[in-house]
Amino acid sequence: MSSEASMLVPTPPTIKRIERISPTLYEAAMKCTSRAAWLAGGDGKLVPPHPRALLGTGVHAVLERARAGGVAGTTEDEWRSGAERFFDEKMRQLFAATHPLLHAKFDGPDRLPFYNLFRARAAQMAADAAASLSGRAGHAIARSSGGGLAVEAALVSKDGRVAGRADVLDSANATVIDYKTGAAGDSDPVTESELRQLRLYAYLANQNGIAIARGVIERADRSRAEVPISAQDAAEEGRRALVVLDGYNQHAGKPFESGASPSPDACRFCPCIPFCEAFWRTAEPQWIGQCGTHVEGVVESVEGGELVSINLNATRGTGANGPAVVTRLSREWLTFSGAIPQPQQTVRVTDAAYVEESTAPAVFRADRVTTAVWTVRSQAP
Ligand code: SF4
Repeated sequence: MSSEASMLVPTPPTIKRIERISPTLYEAAMKCTSRAAWLAGGDGKLVPPHPRALLGTGVHAVLERARAGGVAGTTEDEWRSGAERFFDEKMRQLFAATHPLLHAKFDGPDRLPFYNLFRARAAQMAADAAASLSGRAGHAIARSSGGGLAVEAALVSKDGRVAGRADVLDSANATVIDYKTGAAGDSDPVTESELRQLRLYAYLANQNGIAIARGVIERADRSRAEVPISAQDAAEEGRRALVVLDGYNQHAGKPFESGASPSPDACRFCPCIPFCEAFWRTAEPQWIGQCGTHVEGVVESVEGGELVSINLNATRGTGANGPAVVTRLSREWLTFSGAIPQPQQTVRVTDAAYVEESTAPAVFRADRVTTAVWTVRSQAP
């Protein structure tokens, strides 16, 4: 796969064998082997991340540092200031290394939507963690009275085939804690996916001689949800993870597409959508609610100055087929890595907003945060 990031649809990687599975990979592979293959070995720089995902990575880095005692200070104000400085520095590094489309859209990391909100959350969580570590008030982390608190504990199962890094492993309280950068949803306090991850961390802890009786999800909005985890539940999750690993490796050495299982649930938020042929072959307008608006079509004309509209004949994706226009595209987003799309070229517009589907042409509006326009290589079907 080319390592040069542009708006040409990337070539998908071949699926490579993996020797061990992590909780994150387990979740991806349960949905779709190809999605897991991208997570395990894809070049993430070829696809722009969602700005919130980038900010979430920054928050996680701050928290990891704070929980390891790496934020200097003795008062809450000092911890917060130290955490904010670290967040700013981390975000500069992450932003510099990310896909150039994000650079074309935003002048710097602090221009990303919700930057200050994520920064404030990171600082508060870091201050709570630092206070907890120093024995002061403001506990955000369950902490053992007699030691046994392991931060970002790297664990491997006895057979070496499952591995993971729990955010906090509190052996004295038989608790594993996973930190989430998003706020709690409206439904269950702990989702099915989060429960599977907690159980797998518990399995890893048990395999390393640490008994776990409960899992905790802590969120950046400072909410906390706890679930009991029995040794049997943990063992069963470990067994399922090995089955998923074996199933994954049956695709090793095969083309990316051989492992694709497109569905509205599997493809939701999948970073592979721009280059996943199986998605484009299978996606239907009914998927739009879960998967978002993604349209492939042949360009008929391009109009406008700084704000560009692309008229196209939509042929595949979650939008209705037929005449369509994609409006409010910044020229810079289209030209930073090459020429503007030309008539007869096939483009894929991902994560647009549907404005009007009942008219002809259907109208899609570009969203500054998420929309990307990809050009399909001419040899692609
Ligand atoms: S877009 Fe869907 S089918 Fe393709 S890799 Fe992602 S989850 Fe799998």
